[in-house]
Order: sequence, then structure tokens, then C-alpha cells
Amino acid sequence: MRLENSNLEHIKFGITEKLHHVQEVATDAQTLIAMQEEKIRMLSQTPADFLKNIDAFISLDTALQSHIVTVQNLFEFNALLEAAGADQITAMDTVAHENAHLNVAESLGFKASGYSLLVSKGEHGFAYTPIANYEVPHTLNTKDTVEANIAIAQAPEKYGNKLAPDDIERIETLSAQLKDL
Ligand SMILES: [Zn+2]
Repeated sequence: MRLENSNLEHIKFGITEKLHHVQEVATDAQTLIAMQEEKIRMLSQTPADFLKNIDAFISLDTALQSHIVTVQNLFEFNALLEAAGADQITAMDTVAHENAHLNVAESLGFKASGYSLLVSKGEHGFAYTPIANYEVPHTLNTKDTVEANIAIAQAPEKYGNKLAPDDIERIETLSAQLKDL
């Protein structure tokens, strides 16, 4: 029992350390959004162009990853949120919300790959954006991918949790895309 507790403490300590490293290099949200948009732009290149620009892509992705803490399970995600200053209720609610996204992703056959917190720094200190990670199989066509992403974005509502503003924005953007497909 004692050993188990000290293991949990050890995991929490490791997560807090990871968060501190990311906080040390934190930058403003606008810069991170621009980096993410550039990443999406690069990912939508033709395969030939993508390969031609692979070095630029890797360096951009590496830079972006330095602003993200990723953990593998719900316990670790809860510990990460608490390390970032969330109270117990907020942490549990956020865990439930992101878990709903991943449950639906997995029910559609996508591989779930943990939970992340994107860390930025603004006038009022650090800001955190929770992310549920999943991998869309390359074999899926565009229409099926967009439809699946809409279902995943809507997931929290299905599980009795609220949609986040960025979920709503994502559903609107994807639904508009779907009309053109
Ligand atoms: Zn969400």
C-alpha cells in the first residue's frame, strides 16, 4: 500500500516536472495558433511537396511539441490538470470532457493516443488548452474523415458534458467543409 502511494506520488512529480519545462518556454497563444495553422497547411500539401518540405515540417512540429505536455491515461491527465492549478471539480470535468472525445474516436475504430495540454502565456499568466489525441487512419476518405471528426467533436454532449467553444467552432467549420464534398 505504501509502495503504491509512493509510485503515484512519483508519477505526479514527473508530470509536474514536465509541465514546468513547458512553462519555461511558454509563448503567447497567437504564436501557437499560427504554428498550428502552418502545420495544418503543411499537412494538406500534395505528398510530393510534403516530402520536399519535410525538414521544415519536422522543425515546426518539434517546436510546437515543446509547448505541449502529453500523458497517456486518465489518472495522469487528472494529475497534469491539477499541477496546472485546476481545482478538483474542474479537473474531473475536463477529464470527463476529453475522455468523451476519445471514447467516440475509439468507437469509430480510431487509435487513441493520450491527452495533452497546450501551454501558452498571456497577460494574466499561463493558459491551458486540453486536447484529446487520436489518429485518423489514412485509408479513410475525406468525407468519412470529416464526418467522423464531427461526431468526435460532438461527443461530450452525448456523454452529458458541455461542448467547449472550440468544439462548436470545429463542428461549424467541418460542417461547412462537408457541404462542399
Ligand atoms: Zn471538447
